[in-house]
Amino acid sequence: MSQLTIALTKGRILEETLPLLAQAGIVPAEDIKKSRKLAFDTNMPNVRLLVLRGSDVPTYVQFGAADMGVAGKDTLLEHGGDGLYSLVDLGIARCKLMTAGIKGSAEKTGRIKVATKYVNVARQFYAEQGRQADFIKLYGAMELAPIMGLADEIVDIVDTGNTLRANGLEARIEIADISSRLIANKASMKMKHALMQSVITAVADAVDS
Ligand code: AMP
Repeated sequence: MSQLTIALTKGRILEETLPLLAQAGIVPAEDIKKSRKLAFDTNMPNVRLLVLRGSDVPTYVQFGAADMGVAGKDTLLEHGGDGLYSLVDLGIARCKLMTAGIKGSAEKTGRIKVATKYVNVARQFYAEQGRQADFIKLYGAMELAPIMGLADEIVDIVDTGNTLRANGLEARIEIADISSRLIANKASMKMKHALMQSVITAVADAVDS
């Protein structure tokens, strides 16, 4: 019997993924939220779950260390999608990827500094806009960068906008609508087709219901 490994994104995406998986018939053998383990058996003897940092999910799937995964579209855009298929829009963890700057400040002309964890996406976006920019890679708390003079603008996820407002920033241009996607390793899709197709169909049905 072939084994299936599904890499999940921890945090708020995980919270919204688990009910969908349960509806699709896949339930972890123990409470993921109460455990420090990173790999979990499930009620299905041939399905295992990994719980990873979001940006690592496409990497695990790309290299076949996981057959499938759940990742935010922001993470997938930044990764580039090599070696994987994006299969189902799960419609969860919806938000927007946006540029933001200090509230009320005029948009700076000329070469600007942009702080973000999405350097690849931002580089492409600012080039498309015809704006010259240097990019500063950050791993969190992007909202602090303009206030502290590290950057003129940021590129970050915006949901309610509360985090921007609380830090004196305003959203400017939307780069992409974001939600989480079910992804799969291209080789696994060939080798484990029947098993993976049954999971994809069950998850897609759960999304639809
Ligand atoms: P908010 O204050 O509601 O606009 O939330 C913005 C903050 O929450 C950002 O700093 C994001 O890092 C995080 N966030 C909100 N929604 C998501 C999501 N769907 N996926 C990942 N991070 C998110």
